[in-house]
Amino acid sequence: MPHQFTSFRHPGRRIGTALVAVVICALVLTGLWISGEVRQAVPVTRAAGTGTSPSLSDTPVTGPAQSGTSTSPAGTVASTTASEPAVVAPSAAPVPADPPLVPDYILPPVTDGMVPVLTKVPTEQKVLFLTIDDGATKLPQDLKILQDNGIKASLFLAQSFISGNPAFFNDFVAAGSVVEDHSVSHALNLIQLPYAAQKAEICQMADFVQQHYGRRPVFFRPPGGPYTNVTRKAAADCGMKAIIDWEAKANAGKMDYQYGAALRPGEIVLMHFRPEFAADIQAFLAAQKAAGLKVVLLEDYLKTG
Ligand SMILES: [Zn+2]
Repeated sequence: MPHQFTSFRHPGRRIGTALVAVVICALVLTGLWISGEVRQAVPVTRAAGTGTSPSLSDTPVTGPAQSGTSTSPAGTVASTTASEPAVVAPSAAPVPADPPLVPDYILPPVTDGMVPVLTKVPTEQKVLFLTIDDGATKLPQDLKILQDNGIKASLFLAQSFISGNPAFFNDFVAAGSVVEDHSVSHALNLIQLPYAAQKAEICQMADFVQQHYGRRPVFFRPPGGPYTNVTRKAAADCGMKAIIDWEAKANAGKMDYQYGAALRPGEIVLMHFRPEFAADIQAFLAAQKAAGLKVVLLEDYLKTG
C-alpha cells in the first residue's frame, strides 16, 4: 500500500503542478482526496512518526519492548530522555558471568616416589583440555587460530624441535598457553632407557623451559605416550606432578577416539604443531561444540601447588 501511494505522488510532481492541481481539485470535489489522505497518513506516521508528538505517547510502551527484540529505527529515533534509561537499563543489568569453576577432582600426590598418570581427567564437569605437542612446525597463523577461538592450551614441547627458535612460542605463553615437558630429544624409545637417561631427558627439558619461558613445567608427556614406573619416578624426581597422556586426538583434520565416538567430560585431547594445524583445530572445535564442553587450561583445573 505505501508503495502505491508513493508512486502516485512522484509522477504527479514530474508532470507539473497544473496537472496535480487539477487532479487534487477533482479529488477534493469528489471527497476521494480526504479519504485517501487519511489512508496515506497512516503508514507515513507509523514509519517515520516516532519523532512526532503522537509517537511520544507510544515511546514508554514500545521503546523498551522493541529495544530487546529488534534493532528497528524506532529505537534509535526515539532517543528521548524518557526512552534512554529504558534502552540502557537492560544492557546495564548485571549479566551473571560464568561462575568460577570449582574442580571436582584433585590430582593425587606423588606416591611411592612416582607421579600419577592421567589419560583423562575423571570429572563429569563440562570441561575438556587441549594439549599441543612437539613444536616442529611453527606456523605464524597458529597462535591467531587459538586466540580467535579463545583457546589456551598446554604445549608439550621437545627441546630438539624448538631449540632453533624457542622464541616462537613466547607469544603463545603471553596469550595464556603454558609450555610443559615433552623431553629433550623426543626419544620414542624412552622407556627402554635406564633411569638416569630418562631423568636427564625430563629434567634438562624442564630446565630449558624454565630458562626460556620463565616457568618450570609440572607435567610430563613421554614421547609417543608410553611410560613405565621408571618413567614415573624420573618425572617425580624432576619435579613433575603428573604424566599427562590422552584418549582422544585431533589428527589429519579429524578426531580419533580411543573410546566411543565423541568427546567426553574431562577429555585430554592431543594434537600437534603440524602443517594441518588449522584443519585439526577445526575438527577439534566441531567435536568440542557438539559435545557441549568448555575448553579449559589443564594447569588451571588441576591443582599442582
Ligand atoms: Zn611428541
